[in-house]
Amino acid sequence: MTSPTDTRALPKVLLHEHLDGGLRVATLLDLLRQRGIASPAPDEAALAAWFDANAHAGSLLKYLEGFALTVAAMATPAALERVAFEAAEDARLDGAVLAEFRIAPLLFEPFGVSGEAAVEALLAGLARSRLPSGLIVCGMRHEPPAATERAARLAVAYRDRGVVAYDLAGAEFGFPPSSHAAALKIVRDGGLAITLHAGEADAAERVVEAGRLGAARIGHGVRLADALQDPARRHLVDTVLEMGLHLEVCPTSNVHTGAAASVALHPIVDLWQAGVSLSYHTDNRLMSCITASQEAAALLAHTPLTETDLLAMATQAARHSFLPESDRLAAQAAIEAYRPA
Ligand SMILES: [Zn+2]
Repeated sequence: MTSPTDTRALPKVLLHEHLDGGLRVATLLDLLRQRGIASPAPDEAALAAWFDANAHAGSLLKYLEGFALTVAAMATPAALERVAFEAAEDARLDGAVLAEFRIAPLLFEPFGVSGEAAVEALLAGLARSRLPSGLIVCGMRHEPPAATERAARLAVAYRDRGVVAYDLAGAEFGFPPSSHAAALKIVRDGGLAITLHAGEADAAERVVEAGRLGAARIGHGVRLADALQDPARRHLVDTVLEMGLHLEVCPTSNVHTGAAASVALHPIVDLWQAGVSLSYHTDNRLMSCITASQEAAALLAHTPLTETDLLAMATQAARHSFLPESDRLAAQAAIEAYRPA
């Protein structure tokens, strides 16, 4: 069995990491103190334990509680810059060769930070790390279309300055991608790539719907596995294969939000064996108390997936990255050059 320390050396391509879900615990505590916001726990160890307890509470609401805290803590340009830089550095030291980070910049507006100021601070933070990275701008799908359209225009405005794609994040059920069709049209017309959270809490049909609205990648998409078992819906899998969609699968996050019973029972193996292009990601390192290396170690320990599978997933992730071709090719070369210690 491969230990968690071995998997740090595995080259990784991070496509699905929320910046407001991936702060270092020490940084969060520091930012809360600086901004005079009460922390739910007095020190680093207790705060880490608070997140761990919320992750295992079996409640999406508990899981999401942490985001109110991180967004409030991050709501200055200096804090946003710091969090983005640290995320890129953490990823680099954890074996990432390319990374895309995402966040909804308009979340900081109520705190007096404009969407433009938030994006510029985040891009400055990412640029300070040696890791090749890009920013995905999220719209929040429970917001009215006017808000996701504004986020879409913001993303397009920074297309040539480090923003690589647009996403719809937030609670999926009841807010299908089609309810934000106008925002997605702005993004398509602006020549920016799209990845959409779909098929996490809602059905496999949403994955195909997201693809038809212009998504080249899907956040999660795990409910597509339901269609594998159902002859009447098997065509959904065939459509995803024909469209060449890539799934950004987040096994541990799915366990914590109730989308999968355990990593061992996670449908990533069935989808992979069905030939679906996919890769593994953490989603929210802080909320799920996990790193990409630990995610890899969990897959190796609890599923039939091998190191060869994980490397093949990284290669597929690099091919489907929204970063410039030179970065994608460099990442693929780094993966090919990897030799186990
Ligand atoms: Zn996500």
